[in-house]
Amino acid sequence: KNHLSNRINSMATSATLAMAAKARELKSEGKDIIGLSLGEPDFNIPDFIKEAAKQAVDDNYSSYSPVDGYADLKQAIANKFKRDNGLTYGLNQIVVSTGAKQSLANIAMVMLNQGDEVILPAPYWVSYSDIVKLAEGVPVEVATSIDTDFKMTPEQLEKAITPKTKMIWFSSPCNPSGSVYNEEELEGLAVVLRKHPNIFVVSDEIYEHINFRGGHVSIANIDGMYDRTITVNGVSKAFAMTGWRIGYIGAPEWIAKACTKFQGQITSGANAIAQRATIAALEAPVSSIKYMIDEFHKRRDLVLALLGEIKGFNLNVPEGAFYVFPDISGFFGKTLNGSLINNASDFSLYLLEHANVATVTGEAFGNPNCIRISYAASEKELREAIGRIKAVL
Ligand code: PLP
Repeated sequence: KNHLSNRINSMATSATLAMAAKARELKSEGKDIIGLSLGEPDFNIPDFIKEAAKQAVDDNYSSYSPVDGYADLKQAIANKFKRDNGLTYGLNQIVVSTGAKQSLANIAMVMLNQGDEVILPAPYWVSYSDIVKLAEGVPVEVATSIDTDFKMTPEQLEKAITPKTKMIWFSSPCNPSGSVYNEEELEGLAVVLRKHPNIFVVSDEIYEHINFRGGHVSIANIDGMYDRTITVNGVSKAFAMTGWRIGYIGAPEWIAKACTKFQGQITSGANAIAQRATIAALEAPVSSIKYMIDEFHKRRDLVLALLGEIKGFNLNVPEGAFYVFPDISGFFGKTLNGSLINNASDFSLYLLEHANVATVTGEAFGNPNCIRISYAASEKELREAIGRIKAVL
């Protein structure tokens, strides 16, 4: 008998983490696996951030922090919102959490009642749908395709709205597609949302700085949106601080207060040392991390050029994040080295088993025609991996 709760039994395992675990397992068996499945920068944390963390240890930042984060960290976040996004958030509108993942979980738990619908333009980040379901919300996927650069149009948004729609969640730059919504496109969505004042927006901007076109726009800055947008961000991607687990939100005060109340019963304040280090990260000029963004840009171009040589890979040009999301549906129905490829999961598994390259099936992101390839890997690894992919196709 299964004694676990229905809640956990009905939850999917994070596909990206599952793929990483499988790749690690094969590696430990001696297979030469190249992992392109994780959303993790392959850079070291910049030294000035490490120094701040060491200093925090010596300064005895060892007690519980305030649940919503140290006041001076929240001030640094407020300054960052102002500097980078033109957004004014007071300290009572900011909550620091254990990664943006916890920020998102807090939001779902405090905003959703059973049956509330959450519109997710697909492809969406892998955890959105299970976080929404955990809070008894209903994910409503809006399929986009490579033809619209994987962006949801205002018409699609309008059509997806029902009397039960409570929120819309999206990331820009997008994981997994790398798409970036420009001001005009956000304004287009806002035109629809202004007709529905009870719909709230989660704007996940964790890839904000990894933007090759420049000009990141926050939807909270669009007319009429500030009072119903929760802006989510964190230090995992831009500062290569994935393991340090710091994310944060800027939100209407009543939402921030509710998140703090919820977090106070679950985890309390985020890790004290990591919070202190985050002050250093956010106070530094964006130019201090430009070397990483330039490198991602170079790799994006390399990966697009190399994958573009493989017949059957249909690619758009992602403008941010560090993923490409090729449509590989042209392979469906084909048999490769004895394996029948019926869907993106079969294709991704085929690449793992035959090319020893770990990718993630698009099904995990709500798009069954694509796979996600992370280029947060060295140029050497990328060349080798794509060479192998080409060879087994
Ligand atoms: N949002 C998006 C779009 C992501 O890609 C990720 C990480 O992969 C997260 C949130 C979670 O980030 P964190 O490490 O801050 O929990």
